[in-house]
Amino acid sequence: MTTGDSLRPGEVAVEPPAADDAGLVFIGRIRTPWATRASCPRQGRLDGPLCRIELFDPWTTGLAEIDRHERLEVLYWLDRSRRDIVLQSPSSDGRTRGVFSLRSPVRPNPIGTSIVRLVAVAGAVLEVRGLDCLDGTPLLDLKPDRSLFAPAAPPKPGIEEGEVAPTTGD
Ligand code: SAM
Repeated sequence: MTTGDSLRPGEVAVEPPAADDAGLVFIGRIRTPWATRASCPRQGRLDGPLCRIELFDPWTTGLAEIDRHERLEVLYWLDRSRRDIVLQSPSSDGRTRGVFSLRSPVRPNPIGTSIVRLVAVAGAVLEVRGLDCLDGTPLLDLKPDRSLFAPAAPPKPGIEEGEVAPTTGD
């Protein structure tokens, strides 16, 4: 994984086009023990250190019933990443690979995701284990872990399990 500003042998950076405005808003901030990329784990662990997710107003009302979920998926913005390196040479093996075959933080839209264990909720603050981001990382979204989440809607009639539904345009 490329962690600094310089390129490793075999790596390729491109000139990114102008950004589209997706209208993203940072809905909170993540507090972790890690101030540097060198000290930060490559992937979080459910038995990792306690971290805090601080929701900003006006989003805190959206936390209602979140404590019913043992595990959450956290989406965050890896704000200190380069975004232009399409071929990368992770230090772990030195092989050069395309960005979309890696979970590197260096990517066109540096979105990170982790499954975390929800330990406590106190007002606008969640205590969780399982993160791998730098202190102060902006929060994009929270969702129940899909592997534990039972969708309310039954499968649509006429569509076999595992079959892709035809596109309806909605
Ligand atoms: N778990 C996420 C995923 O798979 O989408 C992120 C994995 S990424 C390999 C985790 C690494 O990103 C950390 O070890 C650290 O080097 C880097 N990182 C963490 N927070 C960051 C931030 N706010 N900006 C830039 N890089 C960050």
